[in-house]
Amino acid sequence: MNIINPATEEIIATLEPDNKASALHKYELLKKSFHSWRQTKLTERIDIMKNYASILEKNIEACACILTTEVGKPLQQSRNEIKGAIQRILWLCDNAPAVYRQEWMRQDASFKEYIDYEPLGTICNISAWNYPYLVGINVYVPALLAGNTVAYKPSEYALLSGLQMQKLLYSAGLPENVFQVIVGDKHIGEELLNLNFDGYFFTGSYSTGKYIYEKVAYKMVPCQLELGGKDPLYVADDVSDITSVARSAADGAFYNNGQSCCSVERIYVHENIYEPFLHEFIQEVASYKIGLPTEQGVYIGPLTRRAQIPFLEEQIQDALNKGAKIMLGGKRIDRKGYYFEPTVLVEVNHEMRIMREESFGPVIGIMKVKDDEHAIELMNDTEYGLTGSVYSANIERAQHIFSKLNTGTVYWNCCDRVSPALPWSGRKHSGIGSTLSFAGLRAFVQPKAFHLKPA
Ligand code: NAD
Repeated sequence: MNIINPATEEIIATLEPDNKASALHKYELLKKSFHSWRQTKLTERIDIMKNYASILEKNIEACACILTTEVGKPLQQSRNEIKGAIQRILWLCDNAPAVYRQEWMRQDASFKEYIDYEPLGTICNISAWNYPYLVGINVYVPALLAGNTVAYKPSEYALLSGLQMQKLLYSAGLPENVFQVIVGDKHIGEELLNLNFDGYFFTGSYSTGKYIYEKVAYKMVPCQLELGGKDPLYVADDVSDITSVARSAADGAFYNNGQSCCSVERIYVHENIYEPFLHEFIQEVASYKIGLPTEQGVYIGPLTRRAQIPFLEEQIQDALNKGAKIMLGGKRIDRKGYYFEPTVLVEVNHEMRIMREESFGPVIGIMKVKDDEHAIELMNDTEYGLTGSVYSANIERAQHIFSKLNTGTVYWNCCDRVSPALPWSGRKHSGIGSTLSFAGLRAFVQPKAFHLKPA
């Protein structure tokens, strides 16, 4: 498999992918090691993961360089990703003991009742490329802490980072036979669905997630899905500082080139402040430095995948055909690498694909709304349900909107943000289940109920 640098289109590495036999071998290794791994003390597993966090910290530059070279994100954003991953590991380590402890429910002379939380077994983690450290760690760290063994399949676009994570985990003291990277694309992913894993944890698109969910249903094992989004942001007319709101919204839409599940993908602005907001937003986006992701100060690098360019062009053409107007950008950039201009569209509506389909690129539609109820109606008019943001000076006004939004996360005066302490969960086509938080630790264990009657 050739690994291509999306900024230069050069081949940076060639890897031998796994095949059916090697994937089976890794699976059997992991299955065999489960019983000894689950019997290690939780404190020992925590020590290994804390050690991994400190090794990541020491290797931040090396990891960020590999990440930038294979996915094209600006170097500073790669560093930020790894720093965020370290914080998540530490949070998960600090909170695992409370979540995995035995729970006593009744203890008297006639009866005892308690719950043990046992690991699921050997789990399969099929992952995405856009934040390989963050989305990988969301799954394999709590899975390993809970005593599971893990087959981790990084995306074919983030394989070098996947292998780097494996190397650092091993150097942190993780036994090799409890964590194995599976190298390859969707064909090897498909092979993993045919093996009898004790749980499937997937991060990626709705279409693949739906396929996997259906394919493994008969196995009756947990299948958790973290899928896409079409996340809306609403700017109410009481915001005090339109410039800073426009900057924050633009960052939410264009950070990582819009390739985040929780990127802002649609903006609704109260008609009273629409014109000044649009002016500030365009000023901000026009100021972004475009260039090689390794260059100082670059905010927009290449897209990770070449195929995204014609996809964005089609979405934009569809919008133009239906009456949209381009305020900025709108086309691929004529240079080596998968570059696309940051694009702002107005006079958009919900007949257009750009307002309904996940774009996963540096493209945003901005729409004028007459009041909060109009905004709520449009924000909910989507098959996705990941996040929704409201910018307003008034928390009650925002809370009223939040009570009507069908999303797993809501943001007041912020966006495109994840906290290790809060559940990361989608509704509707954005997925099933949660990572992070207590819920994301609990996702990797199963309860066993003990009813003990003294003889
Ligand atoms: P994708 O669905 O194309 O691929 C994801 C993974 O699935 C890859 O490892 C791929 O090799 C594998 N795969 C593809 N077909 C398969 C099959 N038939 N059987 C088994 N495995 C298969 O998604 P992507 O392009 O890597 O990621 C982008 C998507 O991920 C976006 O929709 C984004 O919103 C979503 N995402 C969601 C979250 C979240 O937390 N909700 C986080 C990051 C990304």
